[in-house]
Amino acid sequence: MVVFFINYYFLQRDTEELPYNKFLKFVDEGKVSSVVIEDSRIMGELKPIENNKLTRFVTVAVKDDTLTQKLYEKGVSFKGQLKNPLVSFFASWVFPLIFFYFLWSFIIGRAGGAVGSGVLSMSKSKAKIYVEKEVKTTFKDVAGIDEASDELQEIVRYLQDPKRYARLGGHAPKGVLLVGPPGTGKTLLARAVAGEAKVPFFSINGSEFVEMFVGLGAARVRDMFQQAKEQVPCIVFIDEIDALGRSRAMNAIAGTNDEKEQTLNQLLAEMDGFDSSEGVIIFAATNRPEILDPALLRAGRFDRQIALNNPDHEGRLQILKVHVKKIKLDPTVDLNRISSMTSGFSGADLANLSNEAALVATRRDALSVIENDFLVAIERMVAGLEQKKKVMNPLEKRKTAFHELGHATVALALEVPDKVHKVTIIPRGMGALGYTMQRPEEDRYLLEESELIAKIAVLLGGRAAEKIFFNSTSTGASNDLAKATDIARAMVMQFGMGTSLGMASYDQKRSRYLSTPFDGYSSEMSEETSREVELEIKKILNSGFETAIKSIRENKKFIDLAVIELLKKETLDEKEIQSFWGIRTQSNGSGLTVGTIVAH
Ligand code: ADP
Ligand code: MG
Ligand code: ZN
Repeated sequence: MVVFFINYYFLQRDTEELPYNKFLKFVDEGKVSSVVIEDSRIMGELKPIENNKLTRFVTVAVKDDTLTQKLYEKGVSFKGQLKNPLVSFFASWVFPLIFFYFLWSFIIGRAGGAVGSGVLSMSKSKAKIYVEKEVKTTFKDVAGIDEASDELQEIVRYLQDPKRYARLGGHAPKGVLLVGPPGTGKTLLARAVAGEAKVPFFSINGSEFVEMFVGLGAARVRDMFQQAKEQVPCIVFIDEIDALGRSRAMNAIAGTNDEKEQTLNQLLAEMDGFDSSEGVIIFAATNRPEILDPALLRAGRFDRQIALNNPDHEGRLQILKVHVKKIKLDPTVDLNRISSMTSGFSGADLANLSNEAALVATRRDALSVIENDFLVAIERMVAGLEQKKKVMNPLEKRKTAFHELGHATVALALEVPDKVHKVTIIPRGMGALGYTMQRPEEDRYLLEESELIAKIAVLLGGRAAEKIFFNSTSTGASNDLAKATDIARAMVMQFGMGTSLGMASYDQKRSRYLSTPFDGYSSEMSEETSREVELEIKKILNSGFETAIKSIRENKKFIDLAVIELLKKETLDEKEIQSFWGIRTQSNGSGLTVGTIVAH
C-alpha cells in the first residue's frame, strides 16, 4: 500500500505501466529515447510521436542480461540508479512509524472508548456512553404497561422535580430493574420514561463493560456517573446488566473474572455513593434475573423491579395498534384476528410483523396493507419463532393449558396461603417471570410440614393434570419436578421430617452451583443412609403426586370450564379464576380462599 502510494506520488499520471515484452518491443521498434534502470524496475521515456500522449512508462525489471546490449544497439541512453534514498527512508521508517502510531491509538481509543479524544485520556469513555438529550419516545409508544404505570408515573414526577421529593422527605427510588424476556420492551420503556420526564438519557450496554484491560470497566462506570451527575435530573440505563452483574458466586466457579467483579463493585459503590435526591435514576434491564448478583438487588440499589412479559391476546392487540400507525393500513384489517394468530409473539415480533406486512404489500404494489399481507408475514415469521420455541402448536397449547390449570386446581383445593394471581399459557423466556426474585429463603422455609407437602402437590399439579387428561407427561414439567424434589430433599435432610430417618440434619452447606460431580450428600453419608434419603424423598413426592391427582379428579369441572376461556384469552386473572372456582363449588357451597399458583 505504501509502495503504491509512493509510486503514485512520484510518477506522474501520464506514466503507464508496461509489461516487459511490450517494453522490449518498443526498444526494438526504436521508440524509446531513454531509460533509468533500478533494482526492481525500469523507468523510461518514449520519443515524442504526434498524437501519442504516452511519454513515460515504467516496467517491472526482469532478469535480462541482454537488455543493456539491446539498448546500446538501439542508441537508447540509459543509466542505472540506486533507489531514491529519501524514498526508501520514508518507506522503511517513517511510514511504518506513522502507521503503527495510528494503529496503536486506534486500539487504545477503542479500549478506552475514546477515539478522537486523544490517546492519553484512556479511561474517558465518551464514545460508548450514548447520551440523548431529547428522547422522543413516550408512554404512548409502549402498549400494555398499565400494571407498571403507577410506579413509572411516580418516577416521572420525581425526575421532573427531584427537589420537591427531597423537601417532603419522600424516599425516591434509585434503581429500577426491568425484567423480562427479549423483545418485551424493556429498552423501549426506559427510554419512554426519559421521554415523558424530558430528561437526558444515558445508556450503556453491560456487555460493553467487559473490556480487554482490567480496570477500564470500573473507570468507565465512574466516568458515566460523573457525566450523569453533571446533567441531573437524568436517567442512566444499563442494558443487559446480567453481563456484568452476574453473581460473584458463579464467577468463582467459572473461573474468576477480576475485571467484571471490579466493574460490578464500582457500580455498587457509585449507586451507594449518591443521594437519591440528586436526581439520577438508574434503570437496568435483564432477561436473566436469576443469575444477577444479589448485592445488586439490595435496598438502595435496584430495589424496584418491573416485570415485563410476552403479551397475551389483549396485549398483542394494543401493541399492534401502536405499530400499525406507522403503516398504511387498510380499514378492513381486523387486528383482533391477527392478535389471535400471533400467540407467543413478543412486542418486538409484533413490531417486526407490522413492518413485514407492509413489505409484502409493497411487493405487490398495493396502496394499503390488507389482512392477507399480515397472514403471509405471520407464516414466514412463525417458522423462525417455532425454532426458538416461542410458538406452540395447538396441541402443545392445550396441554399447557391443562398443565397450568392443574397447578391452579391443586392450589385452590388445598387452600395454600399465597394468592393465585394469574394463570397464563404464554410461553416464557429464560427469566421465568412469576418467579419472585431473590426472596430470602428463610421465609419460605418457615413452614409447617403439611404446608410443604401442599407446596409439593401444587408443583406436581401440572404433571398430574397432564396424566389425567392426556395420560402423558411433557418435558415442560421437569422444572416442577426439580423444584418439588428440592423441597422434599430439604424436608428429609434439613428439617428432619422424614419418617424413618427421624430428627437429624444431613445437610452440608453445599454451593448451589456445585451439584456435580460431587453431588454432595452421599459423599459424607453412608451408602445406606443416602439410599434411605432417596427413598424418603420418593415417598414424599409420591404422596404429593397422589394428593394432586385426587384434588384434580375432585375438581375436574373447574378445569373443564376454565380451560376454554384460558385457551381463548391465554391469561386468566384472579377474578376470573375465582369465578370459575365459584361455579364449580356452587353445589357444595364455597368460601374457599384462593391459593397459590406456580408457573413451571
Ligand atoms: P427488550 O429491550 O425488552 O429486548 P425492546 O425495548 O428493544 O425490547 O423492544 C424492541 C421493539 O419492540 C421496540 O422498539 C418496539 O418497537 C417493540 N415493542 C416491544 N414491546 C412493546 C410494547 N409493549 N409496546 C409497543 N412496542 C413494543
Ligand atoms: Mg433491549
Ligand atoms: Zn408446571
